[in-house]
Amino acid sequence: YTGKTGSELLTEKLKKFKVKEFQSIPVVVTEDVSVYDAITTMFLEDVGTLFVVNNQSYLVGVLSRKDLIRASMGNQDLSEIPVHIIMTRMPNITVCTKEDLLLEAAQQLIEKQIDSLPVVQEKENGLEVVGRITKTNMTKVLVGLVRDDL
Ligand code: ADP
Repeated sequence: YTGKTGSELLTEKLKKFKVKEFQSIPVVVTEDVSVYDAITTMFLEDVGTLFVVNNQSYLVGVLSRKDLIRASMGNQDLSEIPVHIIMTRMPNITVCTKEDLLLEAAQQLIEKQIDSLPVVQEKENGLEVVGRITKTNMTKVLVGLVRDDL
């Protein structure tokens, strides 16, 4: 018997969780797709954030729901605007790796006031997108901990 309280045990467990245990599948588009097509992808894939990659499949940007709404508010033809014009671009993208602690990823979401982080793997010429970690993943952790099934 360790003499640890329930909350100490819970904290210990929580501090060990890694991103890779909770990450979801990323949804990516290439930088030359139109804003119209990105909106369609966001609906069809049922995600709130799209990651944008170049033709070498390396991360170049992020598209949120509001980025797409903002771009839609003019009278422009959305099928004529490529997403690289409106995305948040590298190097201003907050990322994490699958070995990072989940708690560190959660802190990034709060600090940067964003909904999701791409999980990346460093390659010779850029970052490969291997996953996605979102506020929904964090909510599932909370519920899982209380139900004691994590
Ligand atoms: P929304 O804009 O729909 O509220 P977010 O809060 O996730 O969604 O995004 C806010 C802004 O931050 C957007 O302009 C988006 O492009 C940008 N953003 C989202 N995720 C990231 C990230 N991981 N790194 C950098 N910027 C991001």
